[in-house]
Amino acid sequence: MDKELRDIVGAAIEESSTVMDETPYEVTSAPSKDPMAGAISDGEAIDIQYNCPKCGNNIRTTWLFPDATMTFRDECCNMMVSFEGRDK
Ligand SMILES: [Zn+2]
Repeated sequence: MDKELRDIVGAAIEESSTVMDETPYEVTSAPSKDPMAGAISDGEAIDIQYNCPKCGNNIRTTWLFPDATMTFRDECCNMMVSFEGRDK
């Protein structure tokens, strides 16, 4: 592979992994302490905390359906975060 092609492939891999990276998180409460979240998810919801991928701010959120991967744009620094659903 010549150098130019290698650079293109490398950049493409780097870009896709930036989007798809799993965000590390910690479960703070299972089930969730939010009764509304619990009702909506039929008791599946959990509370998690994670650090903003950019500035490291500690952020808490409720994961309604932890069996399914949750991806959203974090409001803190406008970064995409992704939490991989656990296997049953
Ligand atoms: Zn941030």
